[in-house]
Amino acid sequence: MKVICPNKTCKSFENINKDGSYFRADDSKRIQRYRCKGCGKRFSKATSNDHYRLRRRRDSSMIEHLLCAKVSMRRIAKVLKMDRKTVARRMIALEKRALRQHRKLLDYLEKKKVTHMQFDDMITIEHTKMKPLSISIAVDKDTRLILGAQVSQIPAFGHLAKKSRRKYGYRKSYHEAGLTKLFESISKTIDKDAIIKSDMHKSYPKFVSKYLSSCTYKAYEGGRSCVAGQGELKRKGYDPLFILNHTCAIFRDSINRLVRKTWCSTKSPKMLQRHINIFISYYNFKYIQYEVNTI
Ligand SMILES: [Zn+2]
Repeated sequence: MKVICPNKTCKSFENINKDGSYFRADDSKRIQRYRCKGCGKRFSKATSNDHYRLRRRRDSSMIEHLLCAKVSMRRIAKVLKMDRKTVARRMIALEKRALRQHRKLLDYLEKKKVTHMQFDDMITIEHTKMKPLSISIAVDKDTRLILGAQVSQIPAFGHLAKKSRRKYGYRKSYHEAGLTKLFESISKTIDKDAIIKSDMHKSYPKFVSKYLSSCTYKAYEGGRSCVAGQGELKRKGYDPLFILNHTCAIFRDSINRLVRKTWCSTKSPKMLQRHINIFISYYNFKYIQYEVNTI
């Protein structure tokens, strides 16, 4: 990796001298220090790292594994004998790396193209059922890759709608904004003759015709859920959206806060999005072990 000066205003940022080293006790590594010849700025290999100034680096990969293995943030803190705020802070660093890896994957797919995409929404809650959230998910049917997932706030529905308005006031829907964000991030990776499948949600056709107008769009009716699969797998024999529903079931079985009938719930939508971003990268690269080959 090429070392450059972290000073953004520096003009000769590639003119770097080695400048000693230091021993990092946290993970027993010797870290190279550098000095910029242009501006005189001193920095080290650790300066640009996601884990800069964080301790207990050795526990990072374990935190990632546990987050994607249905363990709650508080229980991870107990298991690894650390503070729960340490786990929350470490998720920021893990998310940064996950987003970078996902960006690389999307860049690769922009050249390779996805020929069969399925998308849908999954409902979860923010602390109470009266504050629901929607997660829009898109998957590649052929490789089972998760292309993207976007969390958005939605108002309560059904018999809880009235009660929710009385208790928490009017709750705005950001569902369409979430779908816009999802489609904008993945539309370049979809082939122009691709097949797009989803269920019969009323706002989906609008987004498909706006972002993927040349594709073949098929909408299917949802069915009743079977007992296994966390309410995501369907009871009918052949399910045209099986890959998507199966991925949703894996989401629910891997992320503790998405499990049904559980004590653990999301307190902040931002942290849910962060957890999902970490999971997507974990799933794509460590679970189904997809390899990005350079073209
Ligand atoms: Zn410099």
